[in-house]
Amino acid sequence: MRIDIISAVPDSLFSPLNTSILKRAQDKKKVEIIVHNLRDYTHDKHKQIDDKPFGGGPGMLLKPEPFFECIEKLISERRYDHIIFTSPKGVLYNQKMANKLSLADNLLMVCGHYKGIDDRVREKFCTDEISIGNYVLSGGELASLVIIDSIVRLIPGVLNDSESALNDSLMDGDFVEPPYYTRPAEIAGMKVPEVLLSGNEKKIKEWKEQQSKLLTEKWKKINNLE
Ligand code: SAH
Repeated sequence: MRIDIISAVPDSLFSPLNTSILKRAQDKKKVEIIVHNLRDYTHDKHKQIDDKPFGGGPGMLLKPEPFFECIEKLISERRYDHIIFTSPKGVLYNQKMANKLSLADNLLMVCGHYKGIDDRVREKFCTDEISIGNYVLSGGELASLVIIDSIVRLIPGVLNDSESALNDSLMDGDFVEPPYYTRPAEIAGMKVPEVLLSGNEKKIKEWKEQQSKLLTEKWKKINNLE
């Protein structure tokens, strides 16, 4: 998979992209992630990427020309399965969408900043508009990183066995996982549930299923689902 990200503040992307699982996925050549600095697509002395909105109002908008130039170059080089604009006005992101996006060959992420971007960029190029939650971020970079992280960990060979994504919460529909414990078996007077130490695989499986069911009910309730 190849993922391109267009950003006005590329520095905010590098540390997360070069850490832990995202780094390993790139080292293993499971994914290639290329960051494009919007300023590299300006042609004036001050490398200006923002301007005041027509019609007035507070805040600055990212100008369309650098996006047009960058996106036109990228789409002339390869076919993108999705060109994603990160936006609080978009469709709410979930695991099902992550699963679908993880099958793509080429993804392009467009990050807004300040008050947002000139809407013609979204209208002309973006195939998907995705929100990571009903709140407003300062830029699309964190949203892009959230989306990219959730996708990349699903690419076969990225996670090792002990990190397997298959039994994570939400992988199998609206279902959350049971609680987990590791050593020591007791801390601050709190004991690990006896059954997990019993060695009885059948009982352990039943306990996990029952806990998972209970936690799923609770999770649905606190999130007003169903
Ligand atoms: N004025 C805009 C918000 C701008 S926030 C509005 O009211 O819709 C600046 C940028 O941050 C946005 O262009 C978008 O790319 C990103 N962003 C903010 N909140 C987001 C969210 N919940 N999900 C995804 N991207 C978000």
